[in-house]
Amino acid sequence: MTDVHVVGGGLAGTEAALQLAARGISVTLHEMRPRVSSPAHRTGLLAELVCSNSLKSLDPDTASGCLKAELELLGCRLLGAASRAAVPAGAALAVDPAAFAAEVEEMVGGEDLIRLVRDQIQALEPGPDRLWVVCSGPLTSPTLQTELGGIAGRPGLHFFDAIAPTVTLDSLDTSVIYRAARYGKGDADYLNIPLDQRAYEELVADLLAAEKITVKDFDRGMLFDGCQPIEEIAASGPRTLAFGPLRPVGLENPHTGERPFAVVQLRQENREGTLYGLVGFQTRIKHPEQKRILRKLPGMQSAEFVRLGQMHRNFYLDSPRVLARDFSFPRRPDVFVAGQITGVEGYVESMASGLVTALKVAARIQGLALPPLPPETICGRLLEGFLFDDTSSRLTPMNANFGLLPPPPGKVRGKKARKEAKSARAREAMRFWAEALPDQPVRRRPR
Ligand SMILES: Cc1cc2nc3c(=O)[nH]c(=O)nc-3n(C[C@H](O)[C@H](O)[C@H](O)COP(=O)(O)OP(=O)(O)OC[C@H]3O[C@@H](n4cnc5c(N)ncnc54)[C@H](O)[C@@H]3O)c2cc1C
Repeated sequence: MTDVHVVGGGLAGTEAALQLAARGISVTLHEMRPRVSSPAHRTGLLAELVCSNSLKSLDPDTASGCLKAELELLGCRLLGAASRAAVPAGAALAVDPAAFAAEVEEMVGGEDLIRLVRDQIQALEPGPDRLWVVCSGPLTSPTLQTELGGIAGRPGLHFFDAIAPTVTLDSLDTSVIYRAARYGKGDADYLNIPLDQRAYEELVADLLAAEKITVKDFDRGMLFDGCQPIEEIAASGPRTLAFGPLRPVGLENPHTGERPFAVVQLRQENREGTLYGLVGFQTRIKHPEQKRILRKLPGMQSAEFVRLGQMHRNFYLDSPRVLARDFSFPRRPDVFVAGQITGVEGYVESMASGLVTALKVAARIQGLALPPLPPETICGRLLEGFLFDDTSSRLTPMNANFGLLPPPPGKVRGKKARKEAKSARAREAMRFWAEALPDQPVRRRPR
């Protein structure tokens, strides 16, 4: 009988273990804490939330709420634990972290097919009838990082997030923002925001004055090793940005025929061309400030941000180039991965990844064909689309957002109506898919 070893008792690992056990598969769950800790965890509890206690909105017409609705249809166990540990937070699902972890510990402890072992996994030894599911998270212990690096083959790993903000194309004013390739060479793949001298100087002043997130001690080295935040570049001289990431040469504005004083470029981030990232704008500026400053740029007044800039330590794989579609490694088909190390970002996204990888592992063991997730859903677009999209040369982690979903059919007027239509379609598609699953859980626990 196959024994599955799940590494990491965080959000993805506990969800994966519970899903596998519910399908009659025996699991050994390895968690290194409390014997060895990470730089951010504070307890030895399973499913510890390392920072905020919010799992974001429950409103199904938001992307995070839509993802939760999809996960409920798939029988997500950790969302059940979260609703039992919920604290009042309006339309959001916020939890008491200790109560949430206690709920998860109880579910895992009550499952006969899960053996919880408190040990640190350093090597992923192959063995007969053994599968590994690595869910060791953004703070994976160093030896295991090296082991995964050997399996993935370099360059297949990233050690920090230097993320620039991403916006939806349909929220931009394309009568101001123009398409152009530098010196007209190649395809006009980039969108360009023209800045005159006044707008440029205002941007630089805003970047310097904005409130920043304090760097944690364990992230300090990363900032020097990694690429510099935009505000640090701006601080090195009043014209540094105009000669660096915002240089306008070869980017004449077709509306005026002139070269702007500076240009902010946006690069396509997904195959469908619905998401664009601001080139060079990785930043530690606080999120509300980022929105305020960037919406002052020409053509960006209604920009919808699906992700804001950030920089922190985050170990993850370059999934489009190192993983097979079932989240195993082509070089080691007995090793699967799930959670934040696949390139998803966020608590609920990590649970979703744990759940979906478990379905794929169960299908492999049971010799069943698992149909692809519906492309109308956030789970489908994020886990089977975005994570394997090699449009960008470097995968940047992604959270749930409506920009991932194709536009609703027909003419739907207004942002709110489009979101409602996308969400309703996603939930319907997932309902259909979940009902047709060949391997429904063999034993669902009553709670
Ligand atoms: C500092 C920080 C703050 C964050 N804040 C938020 C936030 O506020 N909101 C949000 O939505 N997302 C946040 N995230 C992002 C992300 O959603 C969480 O990190 C999430 O917990 C990821 O889930 P996971 O299961 O992939 O990893 P984790 O929940 O981190 O679980 C991984 C587990 O693996 C264990 N482990 C690691 N190496 C080994 C090993 N060798 N052997 C055995 N066990 C091992 C760890 O102890 C841990 O329990 C944050 C990330 C970081 C790093």
